Amino acid sequence: MNTCVFCSIIKKEILARIVYETDEILAFLDHHPNNPGHVLVIPKLHYENIYNTPEEVLHPLISGVKRVSVAVKAGVNAEGVNISVNNEKAAGQLVFHVHFHIIPRFSKDGLGPWPGKRVPEEKMDEVAKHIREKLI
Ligand code: ZN
Repeated sequence: MNTCVFCSIIKKEILARIVYETDEILAFLDHHPNNPGHVLVIPKLHYENIYNTPEEVLHPLISGVKRVSVAVKAGVNAEGVNISVNNEKAAGQLVFHVHFHIIPRFSKDGLGPWPGKRVPEEKMDEVAKHIREKLI
C-alpha cells in the first residue's frame, strides 16, 4: 500500500492547489508555506530523494522548477526566490517523495539566511578532498 501523500495528490485523491501540471511533473502550493506563494514541484514518478532520482526524471523537473519560479516571483510580486531540496530527515525532509521548494522572498519577511559557520582552512581543504574523491 502506497501511503505517500504526494502520490495521493498526483492521483487527485488529496486536493491541492495545483499551479502547473505536465505528464511528468506537478506543482502545487505548500499547505504550510514559509511565505504566500510557496510552491512544491514534484515528479509524477515516486523517488525518495534526489540521490535516487534518475537524470531523465530530473531534467523536466528542474525545467519546471525554473518555469514555475518565474511565475511565483511575478505572481506574488516577490523580490527574490529560494529554491531548495531537503534530502533525508537530518536535512528537514518530511515527505519522502523528492520535491523542490520554491519560496518567494521579500526583504523584510523575517526568514533570513542560513547561519554561516567558521571552519578552519585545513578542515576546508580536507572536506574538499573527500568530496572530490566521492564523485562518481
Ligand atoms: Zn510519492
